[in-house]
Amino acid sequence: MPGPTLLSSTPAAAFAEAHSVCAVPGLYELSREELEDLLAAEPGYRVKQVWEGLYGRAQAPSEMTELPGALRHSLSELPPALEVVSRKSADAGTTVKWLFGLHDGRMIETVLMRYGSRATVCVSTQAGCAMACSFCATGQMGFGRHLSVGEIVEQVVVARRDAAPDRVSNVVFMGMGEPLANYDRVWDSVVRMHADMGLSARHLTISTVGMVPGIRRLTQERLPVNLAVSLHAANDNLRDSLVPINRRYPLAVLVEACEEYVATTKRRLSFEWALIDGVNDRRKDAVELSRIAERLRAHVNLIPLNPTPGYQVRGSSLSRVREFRRALETLGVNVTLRSTRGADIDAACGQLSASVTAAEPRNFRVAATRPAKEASTSLKTSWS
Ligand code: SAH
Repeated sequence: MPGPTLLSSTPAAAFAEAHSVCAVPGLYELSREELEDLLAAEPGYRVKQVWEGLYGRAQAPSEMTELPGALRHSLSELPPALEVVSRKSADAGTTVKWLFGLHDGRMIETVLMRYGSRATVCVSTQAGCAMACSFCATGQMGFGRHLSVGEIVEQVVVARRDAAPDRVSNVVFMGMGEPLANYDRVWDSVVRMHADMGLSARHLTISTVGMVPGIRRLTQERLPVNLAVSLHAANDNLRDSLVPINRRYPLAVLVEACEEYVATTKRRLSFEWALIDGVNDRRKDAVELSRIAERLRAHVNLIPLNPTPGYQVRGSSLSRVREFRRALETLGVNVTLRSTRGADIDAACGQLSASVTAAEPRNFRVAATRPAKEASTSLKTSWS
C-alpha cells in the first residue's frame, strides 16, 4: 500500500513556475491533471475524493475525513489563495462583502447576496481594472493584474461555505476587473464552476464593458452562460467619455458582435445601464437605447449609479430612475430596475478596497483615494 506522499516532498512552491500569475498556488489552482500528478503515489481513488471534497463540498483538506491524516496534513500545506482582510455584512445579513488580500499584497472584493434559500456571488476577475470607466471605483484605481483560475474559483468556495446551508446557485462576473480581458482564466473558472461545482451554465453571467474580441470568442463557446454588456450610453460621443474602450470598439462594432452572438447562440443578451443624473437618464437616452435594445431583443438592467470619489456627477434620483424605466417600457423595451443592496458597506465596485487602503495603508498595492464615507450612503446594485 502506498505510503503518504506528495507535498512533504513536493513543496507548494514547486508548482509556482507553471502558474505565471500566482507565486504560491493554492489547491484551487491545480487542474485535475496536476492533482493526479501530485497524488501519483496514492491509490487512484484519492484524486476523486480530494476533487469532490474541494469542489463538490467546498471542504478544507482538514475536513476531508475520508483521507488519511498524513495526506490531509500534506494538502493543507497548499495555502488558500485568499486571505480575509475584512468581511462586512448588510441588509440584515443578506449581503456580505469580503475584501481579500492576495499573496502579493493586492486586494480584491467579492459580494454574496442571499435571496431566500439561494444566493448569488459576485466575483472579481482582476485586481484593479484597465478599462478606466470614469464612474467606476475600480476603473479609477487602474490595473493591478489578472487573477488566476484558483483566485477566481476560491471566491465562490468561500461564499459557498459562508452561505451554507443555503445554496449558491448563481455567479456573476461583475466584481473588480474586466472578465473578457482575462478570458482564458475566466473561462477555465467557468468550466470548473459548471463541471465540478455543479452550477448551471445558465446561472453564470459574464459582464463586459464591450471587449469585442472576447464577445466573439464567447459566441463560439458551447456552454450557454449569460452575457451582460455594460452599455451606459447608446451614442458614441457619450459612450467615449464614460467608457473609453468605446473608442477602440465603437457602438457599431459592438452591436454587430452582439448581433452575431445572439444569432449564433440564440441566447438572450442583457445591457447594464448605470443611471447618471442629467448624463444618460434623459428621454433622448431612452430613445437611443431602445433602438439598440430592440434590434438585439436585449433585456435592460437599470442600476442607479453609486457615487465614487473620482466622479463628481450623482446617480439619478429615484423619481428619474422610474421615469426612465417607464420611458423604456413605453418604447417596448424589457427592463428591470435592480434592487438596492449593501448601502452601508461601501458596496460599489472597488469602494471597499479603496476605503481600507486609505484607512490602513499596509503593504497593499492597490492605490486609491478614500471615498468620502458620506458619499457611499448610496443605492447598491444587486445581481439576482
Ligand atoms: N468590467 C465589467 C464587469 C465589472 S463592473 C463590466 O464593465 O461589465 C460590473 C457592473 O457595475 C458594470 O455594469 C459596471 O458598469 C457597473 N458599475 C461600475 N461602477 C459603478 C457605479 N459606480 N455605480 C453603478 N454601477 C457601476
